[in-house]
Amino acid sequence: MDIFDRQKRSEVMSRVRGKDTKPELRVRSYLHTTGLRYVLHDKRLPGSPDLSFPSRKVAVFVHGCFWHGHEGCKKATIPATRPEFWRAKIEGNKERDQRDREALEALGWQVRIVWQCLITDAALSDLASEITDLPQKEGASRRRHSIISKNRP
Ligand SMILES: [Zn+2]
Repeated sequence: MDIFDRQKRSEVMSRVRGKDTKPELRVRSYLHTTGLRYVLHDKRLPGSPDLSFPSRKVAVFVHGCFWHGHEGCKKATIPATRPEFWRAKIEGNKERDQRDREALEALGWQVRIVWQCLITDAALSDLASEITDLPQKEGASRRRHSIISKNRP
């Protein structure tokens, strides 16, 4: 017996693509309203961070609790069916997340993780202030991501 009902399953599976998931859209639209501008899924950076702020060298990953194995989180419960498969899969994701973080830090980037279950306006407001307060690097790219406005809700 699978612990996911049909709707939940398709919701979880839709996250496989890892892009433009709802939590990520919420983070993006919130930060956009604060005036912060960012690059989406920059493939030149380790792990293609969901959002990156080149002028401040901070990368933000919005993590789905299930796929990224949020410790102690209800949403990160391993399915009763094929638990070994899921455990290995999620461990693999966690290892990759860790490698990406280390690679980014080695390049002088700071990394922030936003967990899906912890997304609140208050948390996003804190994140926005934190990013805003980081010193802007000289000569850093101010390139805007041109599709942002089309993606706003
Ligand atoms: Zn969680």
